Amino acid sequence: MENLEISRVLEDVAALLEIQGANPFRIRAYQNAARVVESHSTPLKRMVQEETDLTELPGIGKGIAADITQLLSEGKLGTLEELAETVPLSLIELTRLPGVGAKRARKLWDELGIETIDQLEEAAAAGDVAALAGFGAKSQEKILRGIEAHRRRIGRFKLSDADQYVEPLLAHLRALPAVQRLEVAGSYRRRRETVGDIDLLAIATEPQEVVEGFTSYPDVKSVELAGDTKVTVVLRSGLQVDLRILLPESYGAALQYFSGSKEHNVKLRKRAVAQGLSISEYGVIRAGEGGGERGELVAGREEADVYEAVGLPWIAPELREDRGEIEAALAGELPQLISLEDIRGDLQMHSTWSDGKQSIEEMLEGCVARGYEYFAMTDHSKALAMTGGLDAAKLRKQWEEIAEVQERHPEIRILRGMEVDILADGELDLEDEMLAELDVVLVSVHSRFDLPHAQQTERILEAVRHPAVNILAHPTGRLINRRDEMSFDLEEVLRCAAEHEVVVELNAHPDRLDLRDSHLIRARELGLEVVISTDAHRVDDLALMRYGVEQARRAWLTPNDVINAYPLKRLLETLSRG
Ligand SMILES: [Zn+2]
Repeated sequence: MENLEISRVLEDVAALLEIQGANPFRIRAYQNAARVVESHSTPLKRMVQEETDLTELPGIGKGIAADITQLLSEGKLGTLEELAETVPLSLIELTRLPGVGAKRARKLWDELGIETIDQLEEAAAAGDVAALAGFGAKSQEKILRGIEAHRRRIGRFKLSDADQYVEPLLAHLRALPAVQRLEVAGSYRRRRETVGDIDLLAIATEPQEVVEGFTSYPDVKSVELAGDTKVTVVLRSGLQVDLRILLPESYGAALQYFSGSKEHNVKLRKRAVAQGLSISEYGVIRAGEGGGERGELVAGREEADVYEAVGLPWIAPELREDRGEIEAALAGELPQLISLEDIRGDLQMHSTWSDGKQSIEEMLEGCVARGYEYFAMTDHSKALAMTGGLDAAKLRKQWEEIAEVQERHPEIRILRGMEVDILADGELDLEDEMLAELDVVLVSVHSRFDLPHAQQTERILEAVRHPAVNILAHPTGRLINRRDEMSFDLEEVLRCAAEHEVVVELNAHPDRLDLRDSHLIRARELGLEVVISTDAHRVDDLALMRYGVEQARRAWLTPNDVINAYPLKRLLETLSRG
């Protein structure tokens, strides 16, 4: 059981306690523990195996440590089962809908007997929810919209969560002697920010051995289908995985076919038909003379052969969304996509000066280990009091430490930066004379995500127009599967950023990926430059850079579009203009 699953169980306990009206301290303890476990970098199952005392983790007391140990050893939790006897488990989902929460879920259950989202939808559609005391028509409307949004996102895993399950599974399968080739296709391969099912393709000497090795994988919860060449399982996390075992002569064609997207493949097939060819998951076939006759297989073994057969170069999976990639391939104008090796530094990270977990020097060592030329230390400004954000006096103190650390480490350049809050009126949370002394100024919104559209737009525009600003960080404020984008006019903000030579961030944190791929495409069309930053709060987070690079590739970005792929000199020129 992975940390994420443990964290979900703890969240469930907190939700049930809340519905039950339990002691708020107990509720808070489970909520905090869920957060700590989710973000902890070492797998707890390993810690338990090594008999590490879990109470050493912040926020984990004896009781919750015992819960986690039980969960890992027995796969279930007594505390949760006891709670489930008094409150239906299905209410947990209800509490996570906007406009519901624990108290209201309880009320819906007590007064209308509602236990599930389906029942809630039905009651709301019939107007019964509005009639309840304390609800009203407005919150009924909000609940209905919330249910709709919920339905859109269930069943899709964040890419980083999927990785957590897919990577060990791949390692398990690749270790089977019968496996000769194995790859993941589908939206996972295209690195879409969320994925539904996982499609695995393999070539095997002994298919039966691979089928058995797959269905007996310890994380498999149920086997839905077990044929000779196709197997479908559901993992304990709820992720569905399909495995197809293929003939070598069709492997490349199947990889192309199952990687999608549908839209890309439709266009590719049309092109093939115009040339007297047909493309399927089995290969590229030239129609037989006079029809009726069986055609001749012209390609299929390698994916690149499939593209070549229709007169195209191989196209990177991240581009296969029918956003003009086939036309660009034809014209010989596919972009030289950025890759992780092109990244020379990281321009957003936090240290113990605000809410980071490690010191400036530790973060520096992490950056050196990644081979970076430079990085920016960008702690929070004072408006974010809960993060220990810095005022002018503290910021000056931090600069002294930066100078000392820089002195000890000439091998990498530290840029003095700050992630400055954009206040509700668009003012920046740091004095102008301090801003002028920073090498890099990031601005971002961390509060009042709910301002009216026009006001939110004006707030952000005001910040972007400030002459000291270099980077607009996580511009939309969304959290994938958790918080929608703020309502504001992104197009206008991008145009304003282009005019004032402000760089937009692609925040690489897997919860954010903000700006997202489609927005970045627009940013590039408008001539904007992009920075890919991890927003690291500990050294391990620096490795999240790959999630940013993947989305940048989906947005067709090249090293020339991304300022932290620039050498230091060009970067400094970029940051000092304006
Ligand atoms: Zn931030």
